Amino acid sequence: MRILFATSEVAPLIKTGGLADVSAALPAALHDLQVDVRILLPGYPQVLSALSNLQTVAEFPALPGFPAARLLADTLPNGVPLWVIECPELYKRGGGAYQNEAGVDWPDNAQRFGLLSRITALLGSAASPLNWHPDVVHCNDWQTGLAPVYLHGAAGAAPCVMTVHNLAFQGIFPPKWVADMGLPKECFKLDGVEFYGSLSFMKAGLFYADHITTVSPAYAKEIQTEALGFGLQGLLYQRRDVLTGILNGIDTEEWNPATDPRIVRTYSAYNLNGKSANKRALQRRMQLQLEPETPLFGLVSRFTEQKGLDVVLEIAPQLAALPAQLVLLGSGDEKMQHAASQLARDYPGQIGVQIGFNETLSHMIEAGADIFLMPSRFEPCGLNQLYSQRYGTPPLVHATGGLIDTVVDCNKYTLMRGSASGFVFKQMDAATLLDTVVRAIETYHDIEAWHNLQLNCMRKDSGWRRSAAAYLEIYARVMKQRAGAA
Ligand code: ADP
Repeated sequence: MRILFATSEVAPLIKTGGLADVSAALPAALHDLQVDVRILLPGYPQVLSALSNLQTVAEFPALPGFPAARLLADTLPNGVPLWVIECPELYKRGGGAYQNEAGVDWPDNAQRFGLLSRITALLGSAASPLNWHPDVVHCNDWQTGLAPVYLHGAAGAAPCVMTVHNLAFQGIFPPKWVADMGLPKECFKLDGVEFYGSLSFMKAGLFYADHITTVSPAYAKEIQTEALGFGLQGLLYQRRDVLTGILNGIDTEEWNPATDPRIVRTYSAYNLNGKSANKRALQRRMQLQLEPETPLFGLVSRFTEQKGLDVVLEIAPQLAALPAQLVLLGSGDEKMQHAASQLARDYPGQIGVQIGFNETLSHMIEAGADIFLMPSRFEPCGLNQLYSQRYGTPPLVHATGGLIDTVVDCNKYTLMRGSASGFVFKQMDAATLLDTVVRAIETYHDIEAWHNLQLNCMRKDSGWRRSAAAYLEIYARVMKQRAGAA
């Protein structure tokens, strides 16, 4: 089976969130299952400079609405072939994948990700300049959402799967881009790519893809409701027969406390002794009191309301008074960044804050914290709760999306059954979060219960194998449908 996997980020080359992790790990898992999978990614400077063996495999003359581009090929260390679109006009600049250094979206994002979508579709149809033709095109999030539109009706078009990693980001642009990027004007309607008078990349993908997946079964249901459908719930409900939730896995080599080179002492479910050295190292790194018994809460996240960071900041003073310690790593909303930094100044030795993106510190927090905080308002799947479980750091989560599917609340019954894998609260407010923090601390002080909870977490199988097999089933299904329709 040949799969073209189109995405706007792949870890560790370029990463803003979970999409990058999935775009690295899922193709690797498919590759292990003997699938011929190729990743397609824009040629940001970070990507071009990290790859040392790029070879030109195709030249694309300027397509309507886009500058000329080249396709460069390399192979990732895990053996997965990678194609990079070189187009200096659109991708060669400082800043990040979507925004400039000041955190402002690039004004030509429609065209930047229009080109990614356009070339995805080209490689997935008879017009491809390559002699490798995919059986299925796999698109990810709005950045590739136009590919199914371009593929629609193209000669020799492969069927297309669209995965929603986060419906909150939709890629909405002025309608002029429809004509400017060579899209047929008939597609700009309610039953098409139009969203309240604008062009929506996400809606385009959801409307034209042969199958839609999202990253957890619970989120697949939630996005069909007004509360979490971001205006697309009607379309998603209409397409529910071709909408499947497949839980993300994690890269179990990258996130393995038994071998992790980023932590001071490795450990495993067989011998958890090393965990306390990691706690001490984290306390030292964040200038917290070196108290082994004080429960230490960790958080690694984008600073947004989605992640419930506002509520964490609200309870932080009460949490510190319990007493407990708190470590926050992340960046995003400026007000939240300021409030977090102020807390660190107000509670020296008890609250530590690092603003920014720091891969090493994120591993140190997973290993060194006692409890991982993840009170997201909504969470398509979430990866950090899975990492923290693997590191024996039970997550404390709000009951939403993938957090429902991956964390079983700890109580006497679930502990006895051996299924408890964290702490779950249902109502999203400060009082409930604080109650759950207290409940977690009570369990933390019960040494035997805590040890059992840690072991349950660490023994969970969160690898990609099962989920990769579920994607294979979807690929087979759309191929069969297409063959039947031909
Ligand atoms: P989302 O994709 O919504 O941001 P996920 O939990 O699915 O959330 O994935 C987030 C990924 O990004 C995880 O691998 C997490 O460790 C990482 N991450 C988020 N913020 C930071 C940060 N400040 N430093 C390092 N890693 C981060």
